[in-house]
Amino acid sequence: MKKKIAESMAFFASGEFDRKFRYDGKDLGACCRDGRTVFKVWSPLAERIELRLYKDGFTEEAYLRKQMQADTKGVWKLEFPENLHGIYYDYLVQADGEETCTADPYAVGCNCNGGRSMAVDLSRTNPPGFEEDRAPEECGERIIYELHIKDFSYDAESGIPVEYRGKYKAFTVKGTGGAYPTCVEYLKNLGITHVHLLPFFDYGSVDEAGDERQFNWGYDPVNYNVPEGSYATDVNDGTVRIRECKEMIQALHENGIRVIMDVVYNHTHQADSWLQRMVPGYYYRYREDGSLSNGSACGNDIAAGRSMVDNYIADSVMYWAKEYHMDGFRFDLMGLLTVELMNRIRAELDAEFGPGEKLLYGEPWSADDSPMEKGTRAAQKGNAGYLNEGIGIFSDDTRDVIKGSVFYAGDPGFVNGGEGLETAVLHAVTGWKDGGACFEPKSCGQIINYVSAHDNFTLWDKLVLSMHREKADFDRKYDDVLAANKLAAFIYFTCQGNLFLQAGEEFGRTKQGEDNSYCSSPELNMLHWNRTVEYGDLVSYYRGLIRLRKQLPGLCDKSPGAAKRIMDGKVQGDGVVSFQVDNRDSQPSLWDELFIVYNASDKEHAVSLPDKDEPAEACHAVSGRRYNLQMLGTEIDSGRQAESWEVLADGKETDCRKPAEIMRNGIRVAPHSGMLLGRKSEGV
Ligand code: CA
Repeated sequence: MKKKIAESMAFFASGEFDRKFRYDGKDLGACCRDGRTVFKVWSPLAERIELRLYKDGFTEEAYLRKQMQADTKGVWKLEFPENLHGIYYDYLVQADGEETCTADPYAVGCNCNGGRSMAVDLSRTNPPGFEEDRAPEECGERIIYELHIKDFSYDAESGIPVEYRGKYKAFTVKGTGGAYPTCVEYLKNLGITHVHLLPFFDYGSVDEAGDERQFNWGYDPVNYNVPEGSYATDVNDGTVRIRECKEMIQALHENGIRVIMDVVYNHTHQADSWLQRMVPGYYYRYREDGSLSNGSACGNDIAAGRSMVDNYIADSVMYWAKEYHMDGFRFDLMGLLTVELMNRIRAELDAEFGPGEKLLYGEPWSADDSPMEKGTRAAQKGNAGYLNEGIGIFSDDTRDVIKGSVFYAGDPGFVNGGEGLETAVLHAVTGWKDGGACFEPKSCGQIINYVSAHDNFTLWDKLVLSMHREKADFDRKYDDVLAANKLAAFIYFTCQGNLFLQAGEEFGRTKQGEDNSYCSSPELNMLHWNRTVEYGDLVSYYRGLIRLRKQLPGLCDKSPGAAKRIMDGKVQGDGVVSFQVDNRDSQPSLWDELFIVYNASDKEHAVSLPDKDEPAEACHAVSGRRYNLQMLGTEIDSGRQAESWEVLADGKETDCRKPAEIMRNGIRVAPHSGMLLGRKSEGV
């Protein structure tokens, strides 16, 4: 067995295999259009393949069985002069004397639980108006909200009718919430620009015919090109999940929100997948001893780096972008994929939709080592310099410096008692573009700033655990935890790069200290909408940060030169740092300059405002227009200085405009809080 696997691996990796069998056609699957249906599969090692057609998703007996015809490059083909929309199918693949039944890895539709594929005329699955559906305009900043479809509306307080709770359909319900906004109304109100949805391709861990109390994050793909059935209102008709998924995306677009799909191309639910059954051994990585590699910690690793694996993944991404109007993709364990593949996907999306139109980012790490194909580079953090600058990576450096390690509950970061982190925090502000990390991004556009995501503790739980270790009560509204939460948000909202938050971070979401809730109860996972009222002050704080951020070109700039806008970073004392931001833009902005202070210490701290002459030295070309210092006058007294600076955010309020109270020794910044001041532009 070991020898056989080694031989097949060598053959798969060889140029000979690619010359014989690499197929670049975009027509694999069942193409069902007008009066014609064409079935095509790639299975170069098969000796014989039989197609079986069924009238529905569950009857055992096929109504038709037919031999596929061998075509070029390992492709098998069968054509019918009729539109077989709604017909279900699978294949019997005979290879090496063994016969295996499999669904179609390229299927775009399937039955309940995905074991049988469905021929779908996709034009018949569009909800009304879907052809005209367009992504909303971007606003200069990307503020990504990470959401699980079931979490979103499972709560009875969500204002969603029972039959739509936890479903795609919940996103289409208008006017939710009665006394206070919930669901999409709430998101609109919050001001986020992108919703990032946890996996919603068909996954295997939830029985679609089972009860509604099942829950899983969904990182266990079965059918990559089909939406998950448990989020649909009807799993017995394979077209319903497709239509309702499109309705969800359309509704978010109509409400001004772009949609990002969390994709898991690094492993499959089981190693005995459709891919494996179609071409045994080809799609997975093996160790030298013949065992499956497990860099995903989920039992198997997809062999990105092989030509037909890469084609499969790239084609799948393009399919979702085109057919479902997805606006971006978040790659789970991107470190198991390759730089070459990620750059290729970037290029294909750019060619089809325009440069940067679709957002791409991922986790630049893996759970463990994985044997990569020769000549490829892992899409890991250390290789950020090889990744296209339009491919973002989650910044664990920023996350951990702000609130402490995700692996050790008690480990503090800057906002919750960590020491000696001042310099690192200042590096984080530029998205580590100015050094300080073990890698250098091409620009802060490659950086995703965040302090919480579905993995690990919620921000609230992490803060409670690190600040009230002895007697953690996650439902208690601790003042110090609230302050630390605000400061954490304040910090990453004033870092350059893209912004990302886990749904509910802004209302102190708790999972009662559970750090891995992937299959916990829906009640533990769901968004508790009444918390948006109970923690209304925190929600307002985030809402203001979101509004304010969009008005600050100095922080939104994603160009490679953006880091130069951050000037005069200073460690003011233990737990206190300050810096200036050149906030000028080609468009007039309200404030030419920003001054930002983070005070994580226990004491109020007085900080002198920047000297009036400093901006002149820092003047640079990014803004596109020169800064005329003379216009500000040369003799600014403290009165004039106070007039020209205003407080835009502090520990209590965000997106405010308050006169700066400048004392003899500077501006006073309260303990455990941030302060953001803007110097008014001339003529504003
Ligand atoms: Ca499923």
